[in-house]
Amino acid sequence: MSERIEDVTVVGGGDSGLLAALALQRMNPGLDVSVVDDFGQPVPQVGKSTFLAIQQILHDSLGIDERSFVEAVKPVWKASVYFRDWCGNEPFHYPFDQSRKFPNPEERDTNEAFYFYYSELHDSEAHQSKCEQLVAQGKSPWYFSPREGGARKYDNVAYHLNTERFNEFLRDLCLDRGIRLIDDEVVTVDVADDRIRRLRSRNRAYEADLYVDATGFSRVLRGEQTDDFREFDLPLDAALNARSEIDLADVVPATVVETGEAGWFWQIDTYDNRDRGYVYASDYVSEAAAREEFVAHCEGIDADDVVKYEFDSGYHERAWVENCVAVGNAEGFVEPLQSTGLTANAKASVTLATLLSGHGRVADDAVRERYNAWVRETWESIYDFISVHYAYADGDTEFWEDAQSVELSRRTELLIEAFDRTGFDAHVDPTMGHPEIDDPLFFQPLDFYALIHHMGATSAFYESHDFEIDDETRRAVERNYGSIREDVADHYDHREFYHGALGQH
Ligand SMILES: Cc1cc2nc3c(=O)[nH]c(=O)nc-3n(C[C@H](O)[C@H](O)[C@H](O)COP(=O)(O)OP(=O)(O)OC[C@H]3O[C@@H](n4cnc5c(N)ncnc54)[C@H](O)[C@@H]3O)c2cc1C
Repeated sequence: MSERIEDVTVVGGGDSGLLAALALQRMNPGLDVSVVDDFGQPVPQVGKSTFLAIQQILHDSLGIDERSFVEAVKPVWKASVYFRDWCGNEPFHYPFDQSRKFPNPEERDTNEAFYFYYSELHDSEAHQSKCEQLVAQGKSPWYFSPREGGARKYDNVAYHLNTERFNEFLRDLCLDRGIRLIDDEVVTVDVADDRIRRLRSRNRAYEADLYVDATGFSRVLRGEQTDDFREFDLPLDAALNARSEIDLADVVPATVVETGEAGWFWQIDTYDNRDRGYVYASDYVSEAAAREEFVAHCEGIDADDVVKYEFDSGYHERAWVENCVAVGNAEGFVEPLQSTGLTANAKASVTLATLLSGHGRVADDAVRERYNAWVRETWESIYDFISVHYAYADGDTEFWEDAQSVELSRRTELLIEAFDRTGFDAHVDPTMGHPEIDDPLFFQPLDFYALIHHMGATSAFYESHDFEIDDETRRAVERNYGSIREDVADHYDHREFYHGALGQH
């Protein structure tokens, strides 16, 4: 059925619901948008890590003024995912400026330069990008620029967010922009042939042209429609979470990851505390044993404060069915590794809003399918990216041994084969020429190769040909590294930024 959308009711005021409301309203002037949530309930505390695209989404697509955001939400800037221990590998980063470590194809794209990257990669001290140096020196991306007469920022960074501050900021912004926030709980969903007729709370009913299900894993609306949930082949399904105190000067500007017996630990430093988590597979460890391992691993957390979350790994193959579109955890989730959730959900909302506005707010089967295909591809890409972390994880517990046989997509196999056959390649997407794979990658092949190489993947190309690293390459890398280290030494740490630099400029 085709219809022109005049009003939207979003159910769920977590970050996905609020971001969806903001995107829909901004890209569709005149659209009447309201958000229904049991706003009196406390917001889940778990600290949120994001990836690079978040800045562009918040500050460009959604038009959120960066300075107001920083003053209110007080983010910590994240420069990398730092694998401090991934099944005993040497510590390594997945930095946001990975590609800058590679030779610049415009200048000296030589085999020797790529070989340098292959052979010296593990000598991390001698070969760090600016993001990696920010983490090594515990600095923020902000520095004083004499030319500008104020603070400037290195832009290849994302955020760590205190969820409460972020949620409060988004609520205020919704109100400022004329989005109604309704404190209520939807208890009944009237559906016929997959179309939502109305929603009911205890006191009233809601009717709209379009409903957005942003109720998290409870999937209050989408759960009443045809089930087409695709489950991913990942055993992780639970997480423990707690916080400890932190001094702003000690903030680590990276999401720190370490492996445990049946999963992995995170550390996400925010302005207010150090957020710790243990993501585990409940088929391999009891909750009691996981709690014990978590508390023993994380200094400063109190066993009584540990909160448990459960999640499903997978997604609805059709995010948008008839007059209801699911966003956020209600639509899907892979797992917390690499912190893809919030940013991918925000991107989905911007895509939805743009698609609607580009079609005169008319929603028909073709528009819905266009969006659904985009969402499917996003989740599949995220799964591909996450799955290799397990395929290369060399742990020796039952969980880690089983995890290595995680299902890999054809696309992931092609990338792995390409690295083996030809090593680092900045130019050619190895899925080209494979008509069965016509979807764009969510990540850069070069980043993917660096990740698997850190995790132990070797390349027959480099192993079977002789390369000499020429002096010019070596000197260029050393010069570059030296200047990055000096540069970063002049950056503010998070305390200097928040207690001085922010107010002075
Ligand atoms: C353990 C864990 C760690 C994570 N860490 C990260 C991370 O570091 N970075 C990241 O990007 N993502 C992370 N995620 C994913 C994260 O949850 C999502 O990115 C995102 O925050 C999802 O929020 P949401 O709005 O979809 O759901 P929620 O935050 O769960 O919000 C759902 C909202 O719906 C409301 N609601 C529910 N039922 C009703 C009803 N009947 N009527 C009215 N309102 C209702 C609830 O009150 C709630 O406000 C993590 C997920 C888990 C499980």
